[in-house]
Amino acid sequence: MSWDFSTEPEFQAKLDWMREFVRDELWALDSIADELDMTAIDTALRPMKDAVKQQGLWAAHLDPELGGQGFGQVKLGLMHEILGTSMLAPMAFGCAAPDSGNSEILALAGTPEQKRQWLEPLLAGELRSCFSMTELNTAGSDPTLLKTSAVQDGDAWVLDGHKWYSSNASVADLFIVMAVTDPDAAAYQRATLFLVPAGAPGLEVVRDVGSMESRNHRFGRYGNHAEVRYTNVRVGADAVLGGVGNGFLIAQHRLGPGRIHHAMRWIGQAQRAFDMLCERATYRFAHGSLLADKQTVQNWIADSAAEMHAARLMTLHAAWVMDTQSSSAARREIAMIKYFGARVLHDVIDRALQAHGSLGYSTDLPLEAMYRWARAARIYDGPDEVHRQTVARQILRGYRPPVDGVPSEHVPTRRAAARERFADLLLTVTADE
Ligand SMILES: Cc1cc2nc3c(=O)[nH]c(=O)nc-3n(C[C@H](O)[C@H](O)[C@H](O)COP(=O)(O)OP(=O)(O)OC[C@H]3O[C@@H](n4cnc5c(N)ncnc54)[C@H](O)[C@@H]3O)c2cc1C
Repeated sequence: MSWDFSTEPEFQAKLDWMREFVRDELWALDSIADELDMTAIDTALRPMKDAVKQQGLWAAHLDPELGGQGFGQVKLGLMHEILGTSMLAPMAFGCAAPDSGNSEILALAGTPEQKRQWLEPLLAGELRSCFSMTELNTAGSDPTLLKTSAVQDGDAWVLDGHKWYSSNASVADLFIVMAVTDPDAAAYQRATLFLVPAGAPGLEVVRDVGSMESRNHRFGRYGNHAEVRYTNVRVGADAVLGGVGNGFLIAQHRLGPGRIHHAMRWIGQAQRAFDMLCERATYRFAHGSLLADKQTVQNWIADSAAEMHAARLMTLHAAWVMDTQSSSAARREIAMIKYFGARVLHDVIDRALQAHGSLGYSTDLPLEAMYRWARAARIYDGPDEVHRQTVARQILRGYRPPVDGVPSEHVPTRRAAARERFADLLLTVTADE
């Protein structure tokens, strides 16, 4: 039997290097990112990417033959915990969403030609991509309702639809678009993924949508979320990724690992907020004592530590199930960490913000931004409610209604059965009395 919570020393050394590198280099760049345009950010990131490559940590989510490291999900999870402390770190390590997930599905389902055209430059960091699935006018939490259509016309496909929240669309060279190819097919075989190059006639990035993440966004910034219209966009048969009708199946491959990485990045962010909470407790004095001596603050610290630990173990366990069994075997675990991790992230940041009072609410600390960004975690990649539903449904499959409608644990019924079973014993006791 093996039940091991340790990290092998060689990989721990890599993680230690990462922690220092991200703190020294990327936290610094994050703090002036607002003042830089994308070209300047790319310039600053270039030597950092080289350093990451030298350490053998570049694009770690992909197999070695694709230029990645072939790390499993547990190792990737541990890396993302560190990357989550910085906005730009995932870019410096070649594993920023949505490019990382997109490269995974290209690696999984792309033809040799699609890999040459899109995957190789994506991995080299020479182009950017977006994943365009959610629509403005249908419920993103139920993708079987998608309306964007792709209709075959000779050898070509013609796409029509209205999407939004296509992250990075305004800087993307490649759009991976989910469209319905057969509305009459079974619910999860209706849609297909298409590779559409930026600038294709009929493809219009309408705007970057302002959000809690960035109210004063500038169009064409990395990390923005765009509204996109597809009007009679013609693509060839070679634009189909992974076969007609396989859109959901392929997207599912992208979402499993993606959720593990999200959840581990949340732990990293929560830890950063937690460190601020603890530091504040050691020096802020009010009503006769330090915050550290007040039981409410002690409870915040103790609860946050326990919740982060639980979320971390749950996430690493989900990653381990994926590594040792499969993505589908970890379905329940992945759904659980999605809503549990998002809540832990929110609550820890909220407590840290509260402990800093007006300073926490101000832009003099990163907590207000972390708080706004954390809110999205309960929505993207499926809202909390949908993941809870998945978990509850799966659990309930293991239960049946009680026979005759009497609850299995009904005390009088159990007692009557026990009396019958132990009648002799009871008789002895009664006789003794
Ligand atoms: C920061 C961010 C980045 C994103 N990036 C991308 C991207 O790159 N590409 C992309 O395609 N999409 C992206 N999205 C969109 C995201 O995937 C959707 O917002 C999400 O799937 C929810 O869809 P919706 O917004 O249409 O909400 P709806 O489907 O309209 O759901 C609204 C609410 O209804 C409730 N609800 C839904 N189903 C149930 C249920 N079964 N039980 C109980 N309540 C329920 C929930 O409270 C839910 O929040 C992003 C979103 C955000 C916030």
